[in-house]
Amino acid sequence: MNTIEQYIRDVQDFPKEGIQFKDITTLLQDPKGINDCLTNLLNLLEDKKIDKVVGMESRGFFFGTLLAQKLNAGFVPVRKPGKLPYKSISESYELEYGTDNLEIHIDSIKKGEKVLVHDDVLATGGTAEAVKKLVERLGGEIVQFNFIMQLDFLNGKEKLKGYNVQSVLNY
Ligand code: IMP
Repeated sequence: MNTIEQYIRDVQDFPKEGIQFKDITTLLQDPKGINDCLTNLLNLLEDKKIDKVVGMESRGFFFGTLLAQKLNAGFVPVRKPGKLPYKSISESYELEYGTDNLEIHIDSIKKGEKVLVHDDVLATGGTAEAVKKLVERLGGEIVQFNFIMQLDFLNGKEKLKGYNVQSVLNY
């Protein structure tokens, strides 16, 4: 068992019945949990020359920022509609019922910059695919997608075919 697995809490029927939610707040409560998780995420990266770490709202912000600091890179938040104050571009993605949008500031990534995309969980891959489009529209070059956890049975990797997709834990 990977050492960080013990810090993650399974919550039954959240946010709705039938879903087992992987909760990282228990990992965040423990300094050793934070440290071990960060080390594991950094170890997933062969090429540590990263200009920007892009993190998805909101659970991608925790380790996204820590990764950026360790990699001597900048951090870029991708947010839900209407949250970013400056000029932004938007991409829609599919939810179980309907669609939603994600946004990024137009000046957050320069053409040719090397980007690490980070989130806590890769589930169906819809979120990550939208982020991929946003980063590439700005001219960023995605070096890796890295996640704390990947829910393999939902096949999110299919939406990121051809990219380097890594995670610390697979379920
Ligand atoms: P996807 O778009 O279906 O891949 O879902 C990924 C997004 O949903 C990520 O931003 C995750 O934070 C969130 N998510 C999905 N399942 C879980 C879970 O079990 N725990 C925590 N976040 C989850």
